[in-house]
Amino acid sequence: MPDPKCPCCNSKDLMGVHSTVEDLAAYRCEKCSITIHLPAEKETLDMMLLDEYQHAAHETALPVCRTLAYPALKLAGEAGEVAEKVGKLYRDCNLPPDSTWDDVPDEKKTELVKELGDVLWYISEISTQLGVGLSVVAACNVRKLKSRHERGTLHGDGDNR
Ligand SMILES: [Mg+2]
Repeated sequence: MPDPKCPCCNSKDLMGVHSTVEDLAAYRCEKCSITIHLPAEKETLDMMLLDEYQHAAHETALPVCRTLAYPALKLAGEAGEVAEKVGKLYRDCNLPPDSTWDDVPDEKKTELVKELGDVLWYISEISTQLGVGLSVVAACNVRKLKSRHERGTLHGDGDNR
């Protein structure tokens, strides 16, 4: 496991602190006044590039992103923009309801990629504000889905199945 880095300032000058998040170690960056959570698992190492993206994305964040509501509302808005573009594919490109992504014209794929980037930006920034590396978010998600796949619980309801 490499030295943990702050997702805000990239500093490795962190202090280990008591973790309040199950299965994650916690570190404190005094410079940014945030607590960072990291799992000590190999799958996180494979996703460290996400943390580099997260750092670059955070450099473009406005102060209003420190509020709880703003980035969450914007994330929902950007996800809505993805859905809006898909909706317009049906309306303007006359795609049938059972179309696949292969049916999407290239220029529309480019537009969708840009919107997905906007969604990613807000996911990244919320992760930064939570003091969690984007690699941790990704690794935790993969771990959860692998577990559900192995236990045959991908279908069904509930966050903790
Ligand atoms: Mg957008």
